[in-house]
Amino acid sequence: MRVLLTGGAGYIGAHTAIALLEAGHDVLIVDDMSGTSPEAVARVEQITGTTVPLLVADVRDRQALTDFLRRNAPVDAVIHLAGLKAVGESMAEPVRYYDVNLGSSITLLEVMAAEGIRTIVFSSSATVYGTPEQLPLTEESPTGIDLANPYGKTKRIIEEILSDAAAADPDLRAISLRYFNPVGAHPSGLIGEDPHGIPNNLMPFVSRVAIGSLPEVAVFGTDYDTPDGTGQRDYIHVTDLAAGHVAALEQATPGYDVYNLGTGEPVSVLELIAAFERASGREIPKRLAPRRPGDVAATYGDPSKAGRELGWATRLTIDDACRDYWNWQSRNPRGYAGA
Ligand code: UDP
Repeated sequence: MRVLLTGGAGYIGAHTAIALLEAGHDVLIVDDMSGTSPEAVARVEQITGTTVPLLVADVRDRQALTDFLRRNAPVDAVIHLAGLKAVGESMAEPVRYYDVNLGSSITLLEVMAAEGIRTIVFSSSATVYGTPEQLPLTEESPTGIDLANPYGKTKRIIEEILSDAAAADPDLRAISLRYFNPVGAHPSGLIGEDPHGIPNNLMPFVSRVAIGSLPEVAVFGTDYDTPDGTGQRDYIHVTDLAAGHVAALEQATPGYDVYNLGTGEPVSVLELIAAFERASGREIPKRLAPRRPGDVAATYGDPSKAGRELGWATRLTIDDACRDYWNWQSRNPRGYAGA
């Protein structure tokens, strides 16, 4: 298949591009580079020995997107990863989040319809489950748009738009992938996460502490009702996550469907820090701190539906993710900017 990746230069996008190319698909990328760098695409090309057509544009730019698709026709499918993704920022700038995330999805669906592209895989998030009532989360677990932050709401609303679009068009194949916590990096050390400024998420933060650019990690909450009192999450290696996109694309059938992409294994904050210390061989200074507002004690997913229907399973562990993240971080201490 020839596949358009929106946001294909980002952390998950670049890994997905590699997975698609290695599975024999063709890839083209549209990315506005707001959260990443063209260097990521250059490295995808280096790893795969392939040239990847790249459009640097906002997905809401209908004309640019249409021209790009026509220049590269026929395009068979879209994997839609473009969007703003910082939870805290979405609370400070909700209107921008709705504008960018919903606007790009709607423009994309309209352009796909006009160009006869009938398959879309969407980058959703386990955030759509809100505070879990029962663990592990399955695709039947309750979701809502009364979520704590606009970022999660945009994911939930886009899922609804896809479901409605598929109900109205018997040829449309639409899949939402609900990611748990992506971590790790490509084993080559050439591609990885490159957050701007001080990271919000745990593994990039811990990695910056290990490399010495941040002094210590604050452990947000030590009195949760979990085995060691710290928060538990389902950390999925980004190359496993990327493989999930390829499986979804290859197995997509007409209609709308949703899949959890996670490991099903809860890992605590202290366990992750210990795993990173083993992987990096460095001690990671930590400070026990109060709970971060809005955090849940534990969340992890049941990935068995993706196993049954997509033939997909995770292969890599938290130790693999720490090893690969550290390999990327230590080779690229300043991320793509150091290239
Ligand atoms: N966390 C932490 N210190 C940090 C960042 C995160 O203790 O500097 C904890 C956080 O409270 C949560 C877990 O690490 O229990 C994962 O947080 P992250 O922001 O990576 O993901 P999310 O909360 O969105 O699942």
